[in-house]
Amino acid sequence: MLVEVAVAAAVRGTFTYRVPAPLASEVTLGQRVAVPFGRSPRATGYVVGFPTSPPPGLELKDVAAVLDAVPPFTPRLVELIRWAEDYYLVPPGELLRAALPPGLNSRRGTEGPARRGVEYASAEPGAADAVASLSRAPAQRAVLEYLLARGRIPLEELRRAFPHGRPALAALAKRALVRLERETKVARSGLLDAAADAPPLTAAQAAALVEVEAAFGTFTTFLLHGVTGSGKTEVYLQAIARARAAGKGALVLVPEIALTPQLSGRFRARFGDDVALLHSGLSGAERHAEWQRLRAGEARICVGVRSAIFAPVQDLAVIVVDEEHESSFKQEDGPAYHARDLAVVRGRYEEAVVILGSATPSLETLENARRGRYRRLELPARIDDRPMPTVELVDLRRLRRPGQDLAPGLLSPRLVDALAETVAAGQQAILFLNRRGFQTLVVCEGCGEEARCPDCSIALTHHARRGVLLCHACGRSERMSSTCPACGGVRFGVGVGTEQVEEAARAAVPGARIARLDRDAVTTADETAALLARFARRDLDVLVGTQMVTKGHDFPGVTLVGVVLADTALALPDFRAGERTFQLLTQVAGRAGRGADAGRVLVQTFNPATRAVARSVNHDYAGFAEEELVERRRRGWPPFTRLLAVRVEGSEASAPRAAEALARAARPALQGEIALLGPAPAAIERIRGRTRWHLLFRAPTPQALFRVHRALAPIARRPPGGVEVRFDMDPHAML
Ligand code: ADP
Ligand code: ZN
Repeated sequence: MLVEVAVAAAVRGTFTYRVPAPLASEVTLGQRVAVPFGRSPRATGYVVGFPTSPPPGLELKDVAAVLDAVPPFTPRLVELIRWAEDYYLVPPGELLRAALPPGLNSRRGTEGPARRGVEYASAEPGAADAVASLSRAPAQRAVLEYLLARGRIPLEELRRAFPHGRPALAALAKRALVRLERETKVARSGLLDAAADAPPLTAAQAAALVEVEAAFGTFTTFLLHGVTGSGKTEVYLQAIARARAAGKGALVLVPEIALTPQLSGRFRARFGDDVALLHSGLSGAERHAEWQRLRAGEARICVGVRSAIFAPVQDLAVIVVDEEHESSFKQEDGPAYHARDLAVVRGRYEEAVVILGSATPSLETLENARRGRYRRLELPARIDDRPMPTVELVDLRRLRRPGQDLAPGLLSPRLVDALAETVAAGQQAILFLNRRGFQTLVVCEGCGEEARCPDCSIALTHHARRGVLLCHACGRSERMSSTCPACGGVRFGVGVGTEQVEEAARAAVPGARIARLDRDAVTTADETAALLARFARRDLDVLVGTQMVTKGHDFPGVTLVGVVLADTALALPDFRAGERTFQLLTQVAGRAGRGADAGRVLVQTFNPATRAVARSVNHDYAGFAEEELVERRRRGWPPFTRLLAVRVEGSEASAPRAAEALARAARPALQGEIALLGPAPAAIERIRGRTRWHLLFRAPTPQALFRVHRALAPIARRPPGGVEVRFDMDPHAML
């Protein structure tokens, strides 16, 4: 008996092994096996096929051992992963490895680590001052800087970031610069007690459910387009309830669970222990345990983030992708896959119904619906016919008068008044700005020098609360000083971040209870849940934050949403900049007026006439999408073309050289229909001292891009000058 094995290493191709007779009965598709590979006598591999004849002229080796009783992957999952590896141009085995929860990646077999508390690491207060003193302990310094940048994080993350960082961490703990803690119980907040009973559906919801149910057992993809608060989640819940009643399983992908404890809470409340949660806030052991419950059929419903697309749900009948337009479904590091697109592929393999839900569908999904590939379901109104919030623009250009300095991004008089009225009326407000920190740039008055990261080509952000200048690309931090290190002149900060908005809000509405939600203010899922719970309990009047405040929160007390600056994302060199801005504005506006009282949204902007801003005033998704699609077609962007990004990282000299070499190699494959944009330095040209170059290939079909890949693969495998080359099919990040 022969098996085809994908070895869990970043190598191309699969390898054929003999199965010794005693193991033959145990080996099945998707099984983990130990095989001799290279210098290792027992490398971990996955059985991905059963060849009937051996490759010619090769001495075959034997499989050394079978590692699990039950294969971690079902045969259909193996098919899905192999499809994904071909499509996303990932080496075999890499996605298999990435798909598994951490415990299963070790060689210990199915015995996961016992459930125990989650360990956390954080920098002690004042530790930032000690960074400079660690110049002769670079490992400790690196770990400490990482913690200063990330705040309180599960130890697991630190272990992944610094695989050999254990001694440094121990030394830091001993010096009392780092605190290590263990937490055993997941915080239960008031938010999680969602109503368990299913309400009677509205007519629009019922009509959608009828269509979904009629499609059960066939591969059918739906676009569930419903305005914010229209009851999309209730449609998912009831569709899944029907599937569950028939003994089937369901998979629900959400952008981020930590931010939407309400959503997972509703699934738990409805389906109890039948729900397995998979997200990064869990420890490896917890994720492992949830994975096993699904694999064993003990839990039939999986609610998870991106990587849960590979969860071993049994008898999968319904796949839901909530907020399908969210870019967090796109994996950016490691194997670059898109979980929403894979959901549709998985639906095909599993003959399942796929529901893509959104108030602002991505233009890719919309175009698929327009072409009849996806069926459209509409929920055009809010539950109980609650009105959509009114949206007003505040034109910041008119507020700029000489002598009267309103820093761009601070609160206009109208927003201040609205805030005060809201708080006085006992209602709640959300203030949104997509930038954290206090000031986004620090400049010297004397010589004009900006504080920049020495390792990255970006400016440092001033975080006043912690007294540091922080690089948002690499996490490096240094003490903030108002003296310019270059000339000794006085430095001042410009540009507004959430910290400053919080301060402005406190000054504007003295006595109001205000809190901030961003990655500096909260660092764990529990803290996030606790803060959201306080807001939900109305212990807080105003919540200031980054896009963390825009997610699917359902706070009936919120009647005012203030967008402090709508323009932050508009100027980015990205053809999706307008789409992202429209989605963000719609999403955050959707937080207002979800209860008995009507909602109001104030959007401060320098670009009131820009399509994304102007169309958001009337919640006009259709109008926005229509015009945007016309422009995409004219300019040759997706969804009318396909893109392949090739990302090159190396030294200042080697990166451009390798990029040029790749461009030359691609030239023969570039026939009329395929265009090459670049090679060019990335918008953020340097991160962590590594120079980054991009090549962007554009073609009408993925097949044409695969031809490009074949031409580049030999160079990518052995790139010159120690550079790293990564392929990114259907790229999202343009920076
Ligand atoms: P969406 O996912 O579209 O934003 P939700 O499903 O969260 O909307 O619904 C918004 C609110 O309306 C929630 O509080 C939900 O519990 C409630 N809701 C949804 N469907 C119904 C219904 N049929 N009857 C009463 N309330 C509903
Ligand atoms: Zn940096």
